[in-house]
This record gives sequence, structure tokens and C-alpha cells, in this order.
Amino acid sequence: MKILLLGSGGREHALAWKMAQSPLCEQLFIAPGNAGTAQYGQNLDVAVSDFEKIKAFCTANAIDLVIPGSEEPLVKGIYDYFQQDAALRHIPVMGPSALGAQLEGSKAFAKQFMLRHNIPTAAYKEFSGENYEEGVTYLRQHALPIVLKADGLAAGKGVVILDNHEDAVDEFTQMIKDAKFGDASKKVVIEQFLAGIECSVFVLTDGHTYKLLPTAKDYKRIGEGDTGLNTGGMGAVSPVPFADEAYMKMVDERIIRPTVAGLEKEGIAYNGFIFFGLIKVDGEPFVIEYNCRMGDPETEVVMPRLQNDLLELFTAVAEGKLGEQTIYEDERVATTVMLVAAGYPEAYEKGKVITNIPAPAHDQIVFHAGTRAAGDEILTNGGRVLTITSLASDLGIALTHSKLTAEKIGFEGKYYRRDIGFEFV
Ligand code: ATP
Repeated sequence: MKILLLGSGGREHALAWKMAQSPLCEQLFIAPGNAGTAQYGQNLDVAVSDFEKIKAFCTANAIDLVIPGSEEPLVKGIYDYFQQDAALRHIPVMGPSALGAQLEGSKAFAKQFMLRHNIPTAAYKEFSGENYEEGVTYLRQHALPIVLKADGLAAGKGVVILDNHEDAVDEFTQMIKDAKFGDASKKVVIEQFLAGIECSVFVLTDGHTYKLLPTAKDYKRIGEGDTGLNTGGMGAVSPVPFADEAYMKMVDERIIRPTVAGLEKEGIAYNGFIFFGLIKVDGEPFVIEYNCRMGDPETEVVMPRLQNDLLELFTAVAEGKLGEQTIYEDERVATTVMLVAAGYPEAYEKGKVITNIPAPAHDQIVFHAGTRAAGDEILTNGGRVLTITSLASDLGIALTHSKLTAEKIGFEGKYYRRDIGFEFV
């Protein structure tokens, strides 16, 4: 099988690493990839949303399967693009249609979907320029804190939580009147604040049935103890200790099953991953967000714990036979610790030489996030640079192992959190 994977982060390195282990993998191409993905296939100088170039490559190289790693090509309609073209229609794309991707691409769409299917989520109202004044009145009587969400994609920055009414009105005004997030904040969701503990649940679906993958929890803040600015993710653990059998039963019955059934009932094509961002409030699960792809860095702990052949699962999705598959999870705990560039998530420098990256072992893999090869050297090429995933019988051991390697790997300005999974150790 010839595969084209789209993306260039740690998530894509983990997917490439996993797929390359499959006997079904004949050839793997990654567009555009990074220095890590190049170890498992051929990187291509093609952007993830350049559908014309992707089409030309797929037809010229008899590609059998396309896997979009990030939301961008999905929200822009890569699934539909392939479906609508006679030369591409036979190639399965692992992801939803553009409409299905709206679960991530529009918070208002996701909230309306949850409301229609009785899926537990925070109470909300949506506003735009047309009912701006009504929004201000609504905000002024809203319980504190208040959650404001730009409707569209805003690179993880479109959610703002405020603990006084004046700031909330100010932020709301900036979003709607001053287009703070461009078109993404033309519409704003005002949401009830939920206090609880978050985790992520991932499923793979063929649009009819679904399979649960290992659970994970990521750590978004730059500073230890979950302090400071938000980042793309500084580390993750899998499984999540509080996502026990009883909790997951509720999640399955109240959230996952109605989501997949709702998509099917509404005729929304969806073949691929669904990421449920959940919050546990007084023991009960609520949906904070949907994403239409795997998380990053959660993929870097989920894939190492998944014992199935990923390409067998993707083939089952494409053939609508996912129901025949059983998911097997490694009993070990996985943790990943992200090494980032000095200054991240604000301004940072690229092009620093990286040294001492160990080869993959049975209990540790270093995934590349923002790197590029230059001759024999590997250079930093992003804010998040490398992530070190370790597997062990216990979270404390896995974390220690990742930290030892984090110390050994060198690049100027390296920073990482030493407390990933702190509440569980
Ligand atoms: P991501 O960067 O993960 O894609 P996003 O920008 O799509 O995030 P959300 O995941 O919806 O936004 O929200 C970001 C974070 O804000 C959540 O992980 C959660 O910590 C917090 N949050 C969102 N909604 C609520 C809520 N209703 N109550 C409490 N916290 C919330």
C-alpha cells in the first residue's frame, strides 16, 4: 500500500512511525514532513492544503490512502475534493467531509450538533454583529467566570475565560467589532464555565461503528504546575487514571455513541478520527470541544500504546468493516515530554543544531516536532522541537526516563516541563 501522510509535526512523526511498522506499508510519503518523518518515508515539498499538487502526486504515484494529520486540509474540504474527482475517488481519505470537519471548524456548529443530539456540554448562546447589543446585555447578567469562544479556527487562541463583566464585554467587542480573530470571531459563543478535570478521548470511526483508542491528557501551559501562557502542548500521558471503566461507560453512552449516530443520521460523511475534549464535573462527562483529527502531543502517547496494525484499522475504515476489529492496548503507561525553543510560545529562534537524539528503543521514542535536516545535522525548525515518549510500568518511571533523555539532548535554549502528569504521580 502506498500512503500519503499530510503534516509536519510530532503527531505526523508518530503516525509515520506507527504505519511504517505495518507489513501493509509498501511506500510512505509525507508532505511536507520533518527530519523525523524522513526516517520512515520520503518527505515531499508539498503544502497540506495544496490540493492540486496533492492530486498530481497521488495520480502520478498510484497512492492508495491519504491521511491528513491536521485539521487544516479537512476543514478546507480535502475529503470532498477527492470524492468529487473521478481520478481520485477510489483513494480513501482518513477524515471527515468538510461538513463533518465543522465539528472543529465552527464552535457554533458543534454546539448546535450537541444540542440536537442531547450530548452533555456547557450551556451557551451564540452572537454575531447582528445581535451584538443583545450579546452585551446577555454578558452583563452572566454568571462569572465567562467563557468566550471565537466561532472559527484561531490557532488555539480563540477561547478566552474572564472573571469580570467589563473585561468580558471588552473582549466580546474586540472579537465581533474589531475582528480580533478575523472571520473566525464574526460569530462568538458565550458559554457557561465548567470546573473540572479534562482529558481527551479518541475514536476511529467508519461513519457507522467506532473503536475507542487509548485515552490521554495533555498539558497546555508553558510553566510547571499548569501556569503561564498556553502552548500547542508541552507533554501528555496515557492512559488517564481518572478515566476509569465507570467514567468511560458514561462517556461512551452519553457522548461517543450519540455523536457517531448523530453524524450518520444527518448524513454527514465521517471516516477517521474524532477527538473528544472532555471535562469531568462532579463525576459526569461534558464535551468541551470536538476536533476532527488526532491531538498533538496526545498522538505521541496514544500510538505507542496502540498494539494494532494502524493500516489494518485504516483499511477497515475504508471498507466500512471497522466493527470486525478489536483494539489492543499496551498495558504500560506512556508519557511524552516536549522540548521547546527559548521564548516559545512567544517569539523564538530557529536553526539551532540538535545533538544526542537517541535511536528508538522498545521503551522510548523521540518524535520530531519542529526539526529539519541540513546535511548531516538536524536543526530546530519550530517552537516545539522534539518530544520524548517513554513507556514503563508506572508513570513516575516513564517520566524519569523521558527527563533523563531530555537532559542529554542538546540545543541552545532548550526548555521543557519536568512535571508532566504531576497530579497522577
Ligand atoms: P485547542 O487549542 O485545544 O484546539 P480550542 O481553541 O479549540 O482549543 P477549546 O478546547 O474549546 O478551544 O478551549 C480551550 C480550553 O479552554 C479548554 O481546554 C479548557 O481548558 C478551557 N475551556 C473551554 N471551554 C470551557 C468551559 N466551558 N468551561 C471551562 N473551561 C473551558
